[in-house]
Amino acid sequence: TQFVDFGLAAPILKALAETGYVTPTPIQAQAIPPAMEGRDLCGIAQTGTGKTAAFALPILHRLVSEATPRRAPRGGCRVLVLSPTRELASQIADSFRDYGKFLKLSTTVVFGGVTIGRQERALANGVDVLVATPGRLLDLIDRRALTLQAVEYLVLDEADQMLDLGFIHALKRIVTLLPKARQSLFFSATMPKNIAGLAAQYLRDPVQVAV
Ligand code: AMP
Repeated sequence: TQFVDFGLAAPILKALAETGYVTPTPIQAQAIPPAMEGRDLCGIAQTGTGKTAAFALPILHRLVSEATPRRAPRGGCRVLVLSPTRELASQIADSFRDYGKFLKLSTTVVFGGVTIGRQERALANGVDVLVATPGRLLDLIDRRALTLQAVEYLVLDEADQMLDLGFIHALKRIVTLLPKARQSLFFSATMPKNIAGLAAQYLRDPVQVAV
């Protein structure tokens, strides 16, 4: 299989060609087709396996393939990606921008440890893709700078690391604020019982993928 065989939207294929991607990695080959169809996904994959593209490409494809294009509402986002660290969050946002460079979509990243004012202003008009660390996301919600009621896609990346870093309560609170009708993609390097339990709670009839 090659990327051109997935039926991804042409502007995404063009961006991939420019980036030099030809052949999907194993996690991408397993994850992209069901995710393009709107299925929930539970993936066991480490960093370096290409899992970022495994969730970013099908989400970008679905956003640009709508019959009636929607827009993010003010102070809201359509795609929420939760990541445990600012470094990872920044890399994920860069990937969305890179693969989506020929699409008219906005991507914003927010994380703690920096002043919040600029992040509040970045969210005011609404963003298509928001990549966030859990603590800062809740701060923005508590400050009324962000609502999650328009989220259509949720990605939980590195779920095991998120729990190791003590984000379980933040994570649970965030998920209660999300619409029930959404597509959820869940990735973890390991799948111990507590993580599998979370996945079972947050995912709807998920496709399991592992590399
Ligand atoms: P990730 O696991 O998402 O952090 O990706 C690991 C690295 O592999 C990143 O530098 C990606 O740019 C690169 N990569 C991901 N998918 C592919 C692919 N299909 N072909 C070549 N490089 C890739």
